[in-house]
Amino acid sequence: MSTIKKIPARKTIALVAHDHKKPDLMEWAIYNKTTLAKHELIATGTTGKLIEDALDRPVKKLFSGPLGGDQQIGSMIAQGEIDVLIFFWDPMEAQPHDSDVKALLRLGIAWNIIMACDRATADFIMTSPFMHETYDAAVPDYTNYLHRQIKADE
Ligand code: PGA
Repeated sequence: MSTIKKIPARKTIALVAHDHKKPDLMEWAIYNKTTLAKHELIATGTTGKLIEDALDRPVKKLFSGPLGGDQQIGSMIAQGEIDVLIFFWDPMEAQPHDSDVKALLRLGIAWNIIMACDRATADFIMTSPFMHETYDAAVPDYTNYLHRQIKADE
């Protein structure tokens, strides 16, 4: 059985875009500037710098993605510190940190994070009434996994 986490009206939104997707994310952010103004923004290094410039507002910047930024966001998701992940990954180019990208996407699902990987879905999230109110998110229960039988002598 899952437990409930109350996601507040003011949400923490993580933003990440691969290089060829950065223009897309900037356009999207400017289009959604009014809604984004009501939430905390956190981003991988280069994406964060560009968003700060585009929106003229502070963004908490982590390491650049390939230098550990994706993993920092993944770790924050596991600790319940991120409510929404907007991740414009590039479907047309392999990344040097493909393993980190996969790990981040996996953790987003593992913790039932509100997540969009393209503009259309990201627009739907931004226009959801839940963006302006508290939302009861189901937190998956991993108790059975944590208490699984492990035979130490195998
Ligand atoms: P960047 O990282 O914002 O530092 O470019 C994004 C990524 O590739 O994960």
